[in-house]
Amino acid sequence: MPTLTEKKPQRPATRAHGRPLPELIFGDLWEFDPAPETADPKLKARYDLFIGGKFVAPSGGKYFDAINPANEQKIAEIAQANAADVDAAYAAAKKAFDTTWGKMPGRERAKYIFRIARLLQDRAREFAVAETMDGGKPIKEARDFDVPMAAAHFFYHAGWADKLDYVAPGRNVAPLGVVGQVIPWNFPLLMLAWKLAPALAMGNCIVIKPAETTSITALKLAEIFQDAGLPAGVINIVTGFGDTGAAVMGHPTAAKVAFTGSTEVGKIIMRSLAGTDKKMTMELGGKAANIVFDDAPIDQAVEGVVNGIFFNQGHVCCAGSRLLVHEPIAAMFLAKLKTRIRTLRVGDPLDKNTDIGAINSREQLKRIETLVAAGVKEGAEIFQPSCKLPTKGYYYRPTIFSGVSMSHRIAREEIFGPVLSVLTFRTLDEAVEKANNTAYGLSAGVWTDKGSRILKMSTELKAGVVWANTYNKFDPTSPFGGYKESGFGREGGRQGLLDYCKLV
Ligand code: NAP
Ligand code: MG
Repeated sequence: MPTLTEKKPQRPATRAHGRPLPELIFGDLWEFDPAPETADPKLKARYDLFIGGKFVAPSGGKYFDAINPANEQKIAEIAQANAADVDAAYAAAKKAFDTTWGKMPGRERAKYIFRIARLLQDRAREFAVAETMDGGKPIKEARDFDVPMAAAHFFYHAGWADKLDYVAPGRNVAPLGVVGQVIPWNFPLLMLAWKLAPALAMGNCIVIKPAETTSITALKLAEIFQDAGLPAGVINIVTGFGDTGAAVMGHPTAAKVAFTGSTEVGKIIMRSLAGTDKKMTMELGGKAANIVFDDAPIDQAVEGVVNGIFFNQGHVCCAGSRLLVHEPIAAMFLAKLKTRIRTLRVGDPLDKNTDIGAINSREQLKRIETLVAAGVKEGAEIFQPSCKLPTKGYYYRPTIFSGVSMSHRIAREEIFGPVLSVLTFRTLDEAVEKANNTAYGLSAGVWTDKGSRILKMSTELKAGVVWANTYNKFDPTSPFGGYKESGFGREGGRQGLLDYCKLV
């Protein structure tokens, strides 16, 4: 019978070559004093829409609450945009495209984009705290990953703005006009930067909608657009839930729509736009495999697998949510993984020691619980450390399922939480077959000492990104995107710019 939480620390299994691992003592050893980040996130009580360079009240007069998932407290009010507001945003974007941004030489546009990047760097700590409070991610990730990477995307694309002749050598490129963009809640500021920076560099104007649960850093970035003197209407931010996203995607003024979110919603959007001449890019879900061979650097691979699934509570489209481990080392590897996750600290996202913060929303927590219950019901063996969880807020223990088979829901469906499903393989071909046996194809990881095996695997894996002996590494120069139901189009690098221009 699988147990839901660990009762007492168990002795890890023996190593492959027979020697037992030393018994480790858990608990008190890892208690740290609280180390909360105290920088002021400078939140406003109420955030309006950002249209035509100004913050404007929603025409319907409605607002909804922004909740801190770490403690369920309201932290601000966010405007609910209706169809008339989305119209106004598109009208402002069209005017900016026709009168300023679309006509401006790339070297001039670059100055604004560089300015946005620098102003974001200046306010990095403040943005990191706001991101953590609104979304629940650990402050060390918001501070060391989300905010610096977002700034890096603006810097990188600012550098392209005066070199657009090199985007498609031998051809001339021109902006598309006004683009509509919708983004999810897992990397609110970073997804915003991924969407805005290439579109801006190319000379497009934008209407963008952040996710319902994470709108604050987008609206804080609007303050930076004002400080940077960005011409009115170049970027318009409409917040809301329900019909707002569909209104942004379906608007007749949009020459292109770019969506990042679930495959389910991506399909709805594609169906609704079939037959229109809008360009589209879709960055959708994933069910990536981390594949560990018996000659892998084991401790490095354990860290990589842990980082691959527990980073940002597993709220990562390219999360390594499946582990495929070579049979000869499977028991030893699993024992090491369990040892490692007992030391992860789950709790207050604002604490600098926290490894796993809050789940983004009550709905997402329920989805994780449902899929974990399905895994238990289908007969996989569950392991969860017995760490204490805060009593208020949405939290979930890091979870490992072993004895998983390909037919289990936890091996097929995107859980989008800190839950790892472990499967084994005997041969390289079996590893490739299992890794590719999914509707998704966003990313994969390969852990082995053999270069030839890395090359073979990266050719055979149907995934947009294949990391070798590392995981979750990002760079603005490197295009990111999916195969199959993980979507189409690329973000980052020269390829990402191609998705925001027409060839003339
Ligand atoms: P989601 O439910 O698909 O929502 C994404 C965005 O779409 C939100 O802003 C949402 O607004 C909006 N939306 C909902 N219904 C819509 C509709 N009918 N038309 C237009 N827009 C609509 O996804 P999520 O739960 O926020 O994010 C998690 C998903 O994103 C996962 O599947 C993950 O894999 C994927 N993701 C992919 C990538 C990638 O690069 N491939 C990156 C990050 C995340 P509301 O918030 O108001 O519902
Ligand atoms: Mg929130």
